[in-house]
Amino acid sequence: MSFFKKIKSSLNLLQQLDMDKIAKLSEKVDLNKMVGLVSSMKSEDLQKLMKFMEGGKKKHEFPDIDGDFYDLHQLLSPEERAIQLSVREFMQKTIKPIANEYWLKDEFPHHIIPEVAKLNITGLTYQGYGCPGRSSLLEGFLAMEMARVDCSISTFFGVQSGLAMGSIYFCGSEEQKQKWLPPMQRMELIGAFGLTEPEVGSGAAGGLTCTCKREGDSWILNGQKKWIGNATFADLVIIWARDLDDGNVKGFIIEKGNPGFKAEKIKGKMALRIVQNALITLTDCKVSEVNRLQEANGFKDTAKVLRMTRAGVAWQAVGCARGAYESALAYTNERKQFGRTISSFQMVQDLLVEMLSNLTAMQTMVCRLSQLQDAGKLTDEQASLAKVFCTLRTRDVVSHARELFGGNGILIEHDIARFVADAEAIYSYEGTKEINTLIVGRAITGQSAFV
Ligand SMILES: Cc1cc2nc3c(=O)[nH]c(=O)nc-3n(C[C@H](O)[C@H](O)[C@H](O)COP(=O)(O)OP(=O)(O)OC[C@H]3O[C@@H](n4cnc5c(N)ncnc54)[C@H](O)[C@@H]3O)c2cc1C
Repeated sequence: MSFFKKIKSSLNLLQQLDMDKIAKLSEKVDLNKMVGLVSSMKSEDLQKLMKFMEGGKKKHEFPDIDGDFYDLHQLLSPEERAIQLSVREFMQKTIKPIANEYWLKDEFPHHIIPEVAKLNITGLTYQGYGCPGRSSLLEGFLAMEMARVDCSISTFFGVQSGLAMGSIYFCGSEEQKQKWLPPMQRMELIGAFGLTEPEVGSGAAGGLTCTCKREGDSWILNGQKKWIGNATFADLVIIWARDLDDGNVKGFIIEKGNPGFKAEKIKGKMALRIVQNALITLTDCKVSEVNRLQEANGFKDTAKVLRMTRAGVAWQAVGCARGAYESALAYTNERKQFGRTISSFQMVQDLLVEMLSNLTAMQTMVCRLSQLQDAGKLTDEQASLAKVFCTLRTRDVVSHARELFGGNGILIEHDIARFVADAEAIYSYEGTKEINTLIVGRAITGQSAFV
């Protein structure tokens, strides 16, 4: 730089100097000493110093987002943990990108079935028949991982692996298990479970109106079933009906294409829209004795299946809450108002911590529930208590999450609206809050308050 240019540049600098700021700076540091130090610095060190000062404050780093605040996954073995993470990866890579699209279309993505099969988690806890024979605890974690991304896929899977396969596993003969369970485990055959009727939901235990009557080596079924998940495309549907002769509830495997069997899609749902629920009509539907579940002799046998699946629904509720909480935390870390991320506001943190408290209480409860299940000690009322508590708390968590998204909370593209809607279905199916409460109430008081 020439001498004159240097003079000019120094004069420019002098004109820009803010004397107030310099006075303030001189209160903090010895300016003479600072100028001496800076002028003796090497040019590369000076450049580094400038770069650091231009960067301003160190960028805030947000902690990792993880809804498992008490590290409950440590209850799993390393091998089980690896399976959990493989399901997480599948849900993130394959389901998350398509969930909103299929939810809006009210359609099921059939192309994913072979990919779910590859995970080898269907019929997870059953022993034999090609099933993995793993723990209920792992099964719970997997239900949570699925619902954490999409409750519909988790429901589809729960119907197949829990309700349909479970009916055959717990109530079928050895021949029936050999025939149906291996292809269902590989998901070459998809199942459904028909208990609820248009006029009989909560009162199914004593009130089924769908009938069956033996005629030689066959049975004739008449009646209707409502809400039956997967039934529009299932290869087999388990139907529960009351025997006109002995009055007991019996179970039947009805195969696709059986004359007298009609399944119509229920349209207009505002929750779990990916799940295909059907209204089934049975008109003199003839089913062979071979397809009657040989060990189902009354509703108490149906209840064995429901005990297991109710525990699964509690886990599903945890997944729904976890997905909503984690999405909300991520959003509040990104979204800025008044020049600050909204997660820095006290009232926002209050909501986040309330959500996490509920989520942690739920997770801890279902882990213990599964441990009881693995020990063969789970009772109906224990499963019911978890179902009630978790689905109630989930409703709170998803509504707080939706609140934290502001207006964006009602847009499907942010996922949260789907969680809010789907929580409503989980709240009602597999026994409503009232019915599960009555089951627990009866257990703790010794008095039935059902009617
Ligand atoms: C998305 C979805 C998927 C489903 N999938 C299946 C499936 O695959 N297979 C299947 O069989 N079913 C399925 N269901 C049915 C589900 O299990 C029933 O909806 C549930 O059991 C409630 O029955 P309901 O809808 O007939 O309600 P209702 O029994 O008519 O109850 C209505 C209200 O009355 C209350 N109530 C009833 N009795 C009492 C009482 N004694 N005391 C106090 N309150 C009471 C209930 O708690 C509820 O609040 C599904 C439902 C939904 C929504």
